[in-house]
Amino acid sequence: MYKTTSPSPLIIPRSEHRISRADISENALKVLYRLKDGGYQAYLVGGGVRDLLLGREPKDFDVATDATPEQVRRIFRNCRLIGRRFRLAHVHFGREIVEVATFRGGGQDEDTDGERRIHNGMIVRDNRYGTREEDALRRDFSVNGLYYNIADFSVIDYAGGLDDLRAGRLRLIGEDPEQRYREDPVRMLRAVRFACKLGFNLDPSCERPLFELGHLLRDIPPARLFEEVLKLLQTGLGLCVFEKLRHYRLFAQLFPATDALLDHEDHNFPITFVSRGLENTDRRIREEKPVTPAFLFAVLLWEPVRRRFAQLLAGDIAANEAMLLAAGDAFARQRPLVAIPKRFALPMREIWSLQPRLERREGKRPYRLVAHPRFRAAYDFLLLRAEVGEVDLALADWWTRFQAVNDHTRTEMTAGTTKGKGRRRGRRPAMEKETAGT
Ligand code: ATP
Ligand code: MG
Repeated sequence: MYKTTSPSPLIIPRSEHRISRADISENALKVLYRLKDGGYQAYLVGGGVRDLLLGREPKDFDVATDATPEQVRRIFRNCRLIGRRFRLAHVHFGREIVEVATFRGGGQDEDTDGERRIHNGMIVRDNRYGTREEDALRRDFSVNGLYYNIADFSVIDYAGGLDDLRAGRLRLIGEDPEQRYREDPVRMLRAVRFACKLGFNLDPSCERPLFELGHLLRDIPPARLFEEVLKLLQTGLGLCVFEKLRHYRLFAQLFPATDALLDHEDHNFPITFVSRGLENTDRRIREEKPVTPAFLFAVLLWEPVRRRFAQLLAGDIAANEAMLLAAGDAFARQRPLVAIPKRFALPMREIWSLQPRLERREGKRPYRLVAHPRFRAAYDFLLLRAEVGEVDLALADWWTRFQAVNDHTRTEMTAGTTKGKGRRRGRRPAMEKETAGT
């Protein structure tokens, strides 16, 4: 077994590690120095230290201090306190935010004044302050529990994080990984994310419980899960994360309706739409093209929408109406698990509702569609469907061409199309009346 707690931490002096102030953002340095000059302890912690030690560029910089959030606010004018479950100070510098967290006290006991609350083994409130050591030991993975001290530029390791960094190993701090997952089930999702991001192996003791504890995610507020899903699937690691989530049966906890359909086949083809969509998103992120949660969730929930749509079409119902119902259905079932905010849910549903409309290309319809604010996303979505063989490639090509050609050719293209191919005619498209994300 690993020794995870040590009374005296390992302290690595500046001369023996690779973290240089030149690699830390100016704003994070400003925060560290101002705290120090204010008489407080100040450390760079978490992903910033981990990534710098690995020679990677950190996504952002987190700071830990013994100053309380209120004391932090008194030092920085550009500071906002956020979070109830876990109160933090955000110091704003234009678009960059440096997150400043006060040392937390750990342990399994509750507070008398309610600053730390534990419900069924889960930490639902964590605002009891503590020492640096306690703060280190309540963190999730040992590689996330390293401190860079602005006072002497040393790195402080309480939990064997440096060994694990060297070994490429993700290991939860503490003796009982299952208990650490129970305290905060989101750590299971973080395990998957870091495994993909860092290319690390999960220590077997931390990997085993993943197969068993997925159901704990049901206790997490859907709004928090939404944020986590974005970090999981929209930061360029989507395909890797998706495969691991499926492997550990965690995906089923987040998207049960989709998961249930993924093992099926469609016309003897395995269903690959979600993986292709995520691969696509990863590529866009690599190419620094914009991505939106609306598209991501449209992809993630498409399988159940499409099935329901097909079922409804088999009855006596127009395509637009069927899509409206199918979308409403999928959305309502998803909402209690992962809450998609309205500003994304609405465009997500538009992406879906435009799909049957993209099949009708006669007369003025295509002109109206290309002017639709969601056309571009809906067209990208159609391309994806064509890629996996769900719609005719010719349809996708038609739209690619329609966007590229001049008015004269457009007129020719719309004159030559067959009317309402494969769909009912003579009904008003109900989609155009769609309003709120209900
Ligand atoms: P990223 O590169 O994604 O920012 P990170 O490790 O910095 O990774 P954050 O979510 O920014 O992750 O959190 C900062 C630090 O706070 C983590 O490194 C970890 O020490 C601690 N932490 C965050 N979330 C948890 C959690 N759920 N349980 C325990 N510790 C956590
Ligand atoms: Mg971070």
